[in-house]
Amino acid sequence: MPAIKCPQCGGEVDLKERVYFLACPYCHSALYLDRARSVLHYILEATIDPIVAEHNLRRWMGGAEMRRGLEELAVIESVEFFYFPMWYFHIKRTQQAIATYVEPAAPTSLSTIKEFKPPGGSLRFYEPTLAPPEKMIEPSIPYKTALGWLQQRIRYLSSPAAGAKRGKGKEEVSLTEVSLVHIPWYIFRYSFKDETYLAAVEGTTGKVFANVFPSKSEIPFDLVTIVAIVILFCEGMLIDGFLPRLVVMTSTALPLSLIAYFVAREF
Ligand SMILES: [Zn+2]
Repeated sequence: MPAIKCPQCGGEVDLKERVYFLACPYCHSALYLDRARSVLHYILEATIDPIVAEHNLRRWMGGAEMRRGLEELAVIESVEFFYFPMWYFHIKRTQQAIATYVEPAAPTSLSTIKEFKPPGGSLRFYEPTLAPPEKMIEPSIPYKTALGWLQQRIRYLSSPAAGAKRGKGKEEVSLTEVSLVHIPWYIFRYSFKDETYLAAVEGTTGKVFANVFPSKSEIPFDLVTIVAIVILFCEGMLIDGFLPRLVVMTSTALPLSLIAYFVAREF
């Protein structure tokens, strides 16, 4: 029977076939077996319920960069809850505290979730009693792939075997620890003006992540401004006399500001 070493206590753990999640029989650490290595396996327990998650989503929809009316008019079509696997990389730079970076350990269309900043503490060793198996998404992106992505984000990051590498600014960047963490997410599908969107609300911080959302478009505003400038310029050039110019320009300014108001309300 093949065996692996527990990253926590160094004990030899026997492997049964097709087992991804297991516990070390010596120190009881939860382990996850990747093709390349075994790592500690944690879970971040959800602390917010679907109602709070939806509340956070609505507040996010009311943000200044969003389309007007989104907060009130968006219709939530569905909400799903699951634990999504992520690779946690602990990175040490010279003269700096250890920082944690995350990369997805399963395919997702929400690439922005890698900007998720893990909250300190609150990680627990995974146990089936903490989350029902049907809510757990199985990791399918290997450690090496995720490390490759991270190396594109962080310059001079060496692989753990090579030790710390010296960067240009004499900075040392090294990977001190890797683990697999299942993170709770509420995935909302909502519709707004005949379009459907996805947004993810993280189940402990309540932060909202989305790739595509109904944001305010700058084009209508710019168009109204350009049209207004052209009209007023032509009027100024063509009309003689201060008073007639004033009368014509104010009478065009009024409908133009009405258009601007309408555009601002609609877009
Ligand atoms: Zn152990």
